[in-house]
Formats: sequence, structure tokens, C-alpha cells
Amino acid sequence: MKTLIAGNWKMNGLLKDRDEIKKLAGLLEKDPAPGCDITLCLPATLLFPSVKFIAESAIALGAQNIHWAESGAHTGDISVEMIKEAGCEYVIIGHSERRSGHGEHGERSQSVSEKAKIAMAYKIFAIICVGESLDEREAGKAKSHVLDQVKKSLPQVFSADQVAIAYEPIWAIGTGVTAKLEDIAEMHGFIRAYLNEHHGEDGAKIRILYGGSVNPGNAAEILSTTDVNGVLVGGASLKADDFFAIIRAAG
Ligand code: PEP
Repeated sequence: MKTLIAGNWKMNGLLKDRDEIKKLAGLLEKDPAPGCDITLCLPATLLFPSVKFIAESAIALGAQNIHWAESGAHTGDISVEMIKEAGCEYVIIGHSERRSGHGEHGERSQSVSEKAKIAMAYKIFAIICVGESLDEREAGKAKSHVLDQVKKSLPQVFSADQVAIAYEPIWAIGTGVTAKLEDIAEMHGFIRAYLNEHHGEDGAKIRILYGGSVNPGNAAEILSTTDVNGVLVGGASLKADDFFAIIRAAG
């Protein structure tokens, strides 16, 4: 199982910031990380213009969202075919900032599952995000909430080379607060046990990433935690040196 290191630039990045992508590609050329799959999930406006920096590098291009429909009247959305045409191989789906940050009800797990299905149909790797809020954790409901999200968000039929789960406790995203290693191990083990039991061989092979304030200082210990098969990195993916250090921490 290769370690998956995914960067999420969120709503950051203008054309000038592609210098960081170019720099990262150069660092990886000099010092490759053959044990890792690496993707940078960029804002939609940077997809096409970044292809030339990513081509022939170890970095795969990724998007941050897609619509579940192929095309049509969905103002402001982006389709899987559009990101594919732009050169993407990966897409983040169901990030907590989309689940909670878009309208009264936000994005639901059912639509996350529909998005994952259409991504897989177009051979785009789907990184499905799940994670509990602080209130849910404090109420002792972290596991039941995450399990519910995994059950509803992960399509029934998938292959492990098409999809990963990213466990991202909401209270750890962009806050500088990282979950304790024992909490990460416990939740990842819990998700792994569910996948093993309910999704057979593919469930056992699906990668489970951790996300939430991963940085060059904590990446090595997080990546060596049991059942952590990669990381989803927000803030620290914006700078080539930091993201490269995280990749290196994977060994
Ligand atoms: C994320 O964007 O998914 C994330 C985990 O962000 P950060 O690393 O900044 O906490």
C-alpha cells in the first residue's frame, strides 16, 4: 500500500503561487519519494494553468469538489469531465468545509456518495472526507458520527485504487490543534475494522488518511501511527518546503 500525501490548497492560490508547485516538482525530482502517491488539490482556476508544472513530475493534479451530475443547470459548480479535461487524477469530496459551509444543511453524505460514484466512473480518484465536530466528540458521539458518514458516503461498489477515506476531526482543521496520536489510532482502527468487515478485500486495501493541522513537525509521528495510510494537508501544503518535508516524513 503506497502512502497517499494529498495537499488541499482550499481557496488559496493565484497564478504567481504556481512557483511553489514548480519548486515542489524540482525538490521531488532531486529527491524522489517512490513510496508515496502525491497530489495537490488546487482551486479550479489553477487547474489548467498548472498542468505544465505538474506534467512529468511525481505530483498528480487534483480538484477540491465536483458535482454529482454529468452536466446541466448547476450554476457555479464544476463537473467531473471538466476536471478530467483539466488534467486531474484526484478529487476531494465531502470536505467538512463543504459539508458545513454551504447553506443551512450543507453537503450531505448521500450526495458525497453520488459524487464519489461519478468520479470513479471517470477514473478520478476520490478522497472522501469524514470527521466529527468538537461537540460530537465531547458528547461521546465521535465514532457513531464518523461511522454514519463512512457508511453513507462510501459507495457500495468501489475498488481500493479508486477511493480513500480521509478522517479529519473538524476541530483539528486549520486550528493548529492536532488530534492525539492515540485518538487518531483509535478512530483509524475503528474505520479499518468496519471496512474490513463490510467491504472485503477492497475494504482492507482502501487507504485511510488523517487530516487536521498536519505539519513538518508532526507528520512523521502521525504517518507512523497504526492504520494511518497517508495525510490530507491544508495550510502546510501551500509552501513547497513544508509539503516536501511532510512527504519526506513518510519515509
Ligand atoms: C484540510 O484542508 O483538509 C486540512 C486538514 O487543513 P489543515 O491541514 O490546514 O488543518
